[in-house]
Amino acid sequence: MNKTDIRIFSLPELENIAQAYGEPKFKAKQIYQWIWQKGVMDFDEMTNLSKNLRENLKESYTFNKLQNVHQQISVDGTIKTGWKLEDNAIIESVLIPVPKDTRYTLCVSSQVGCSLNCKFCATGKLKKVRNLKDYEIYEQFLRVNNQSIEKYNHKLTNIVYMGMGEPLLNYNNVLKSIDKITNPNASGYSMKRITISTAGIVKGINKLADDNIKVNIALSLHAADDKKRNFLMPINETNNLKDVIKSLTNLYDKTKVKISFEYIMFKDFNDSLDDAEKLYKLTKHFPVKINIIEYNYVKGVDLKKTDDDKINQFAKYLVDKGVMTTVRRSRGKDIDAACGQLANKIEKK
Ligand code: SF4
Repeated sequence: MNKTDIRIFSLPELENIAQAYGEPKFKAKQIYQWIWQKGVMDFDEMTNLSKNLRENLKESYTFNKLQNVHQQISVDGTIKTGWKLEDNAIIESVLIPVPKDTRYTLCVSSQVGCSLNCKFCATGKLKKVRNLKDYEIYEQFLRVNNQSIEKYNHKLTNIVYMGMGEPLLNYNNVLKSIDKITNPNASGYSMKRITISTAGIVKGINKLADDNIKVNIALSLHAADDKKRNFLMPINETNNLKDVIKSLTNLYDKTKVKISFEYIMFKDFNDSLDDAEKLYKLTKHFPVKINIIEYNYVKGVDLKKTDDDKINQFAKYLVDKGVMTTVRRSRGKDIDAACGQLANKIEKK
């Protein structure tokens, strides 16, 4: 018999399970805390449960743990880990340490592959296989947090939903995983430490506003007019810039969350001062920070990295206009762990 992963159950559902075994309701809270607060994935380690209850649980339930199938460490300390899921699908998580700023960031995947097919992205070439379950997302957090403590003697400080997949197309499971990461009965992280990166899913952004979710948002913008953005990101054809900006304005008005624009710079495509001016015009609707990112080569993609001088000129234009702008040199490039490079390469070799 295939056993069910116990992590699919909510606290009230665990209460029903405990009661069905003739146990008091509070046992469910203990199970919940073992799983979501202490990160335990073995019934035998749940020492305040009776042996009888542990045996009963083991008979029907399990933990389909992520299997670590590959790991690479970059010269800059970035660690990329590949995980095999219960159906043999592979995903990747990245740990990005910046000890001088005491920042230890997890870049977490939310889907197996991605359906959005952005031109510059290796994950987009994999096609979407399925959404990750909430506990598969959460377990990346748990395991990479352990990695961070073991390797850098520091727990994670930030979590970005910027790995494989579009988080807002897996809305419910992403939000459930955030609940587990932030819930005081679970891991208790601050929402302010979490960022959802989106290609601009209007429906999802409006839902975040309706649900009053106060996580930071990073819009993968990459072009400030529809024509260029349609070319880079086909999702823009149905979720155009005007609608995306409108939905973000709505989100900001309701939640006051921090919003940033991610802008990968491509040589002779989106790196002129005319592009900078268009980008500047998009910053007038709500407070926003712009992160200019250098492009990381992806095999088979006919786009090139902009020269440093031009990146600096572009950034200066924005800074002179009073826009908070940073230029991000990519981390983990040598191990294909940088932005847009996650594609399970090791596994496919
Ligand atoms: S950039 Fe993000 S949304 Fe676009 S294909 Fe890659 S993973 Fe999907």
